[in-house]
Amino acid sequence: MSQAAASNEIVNQMIRKEKKYKEGIQKNHAYACTMAQTLSKGGRLEDLLGDRVDDYRQALRQLAETNVKHEREVNAFVATLKKTVNQPEITEYSTFIQENKEQELQKINQSSVEIKQERMYLDMCTELGDVSAQNQDDELEVVGGNATVSLKCPITGTLLQDPMRNKVCHHVYSKHVILNYIRNRNNKCPNVGCVNTNLSIGQLEDDHQTARLVKREMIRLEEEKRQQTQNAIDFEDDED
Ligand SMILES: [Zn+2]
Repeated sequence: MSQAAASNEIVNQMIRKEKKYKEGIQKNHAYACTMAQTLSKGGRLEDLLGDRVDDYRQALRQLAETNVKHEREVNAFVATLKKTVNQPEITEYSTFIQENKEQELQKINQSSVEIKQERMYLDMCTELGDVSAQNQDDELEVVGGNATVSLKCPITGTLLQDPMRNKVCHHVYSKHVILNYIRNRNNKCPNVGCVNTNLSIGQLEDDHQTARLVKREMIRLEEEKRQQTQNAIDFEDDED
């Protein structure tokens, strides 16, 4: 084997380790989530930790953030390694890798959502019972293509009930809430930033598609609640 071929083989081995690196991050993440579950159950543990409980919670959020960054680093590193394969004209490998890894990381960060919107970070917030992050998580549902729809009524901020869609501006509201709103002589769509100022009952129609998504979301929330209760029971059992 020529020297070039041998060095390619080594680089390819490193590239194949990508899955292993990521598994390590996922394991770390799963372990941190288990710790978060224990903390969020409150009760005796929370009493024992007292004021320190918030510090622990913050440390776990930071850990999730680090895991997201770590995963992006791995992606950038592997993308850079791929660029070095079969490139005999590269003379200074360490400089090449350093510079390109930085570029790749920038590209990844630019094309990704905010770290606090990444699944791993949201998972952690959910485990910790952070309400705001959970809301972010619940808010968006993808409905075919790239269209997203909020499952919350823009007036009450709570999960939609009997959703009605506006045929003109396409915003969705809870039926009893929007009907009351119009009866009270409001004629501007309550969605922030919407320019529809001719709001009327005639513009509304029942939104069955969103109703299905709401139903699915309710089932998911029920299941989540059931799971949390089960976890609390398991935790009590472990304590004995
Ligand atoms: Zn509107």
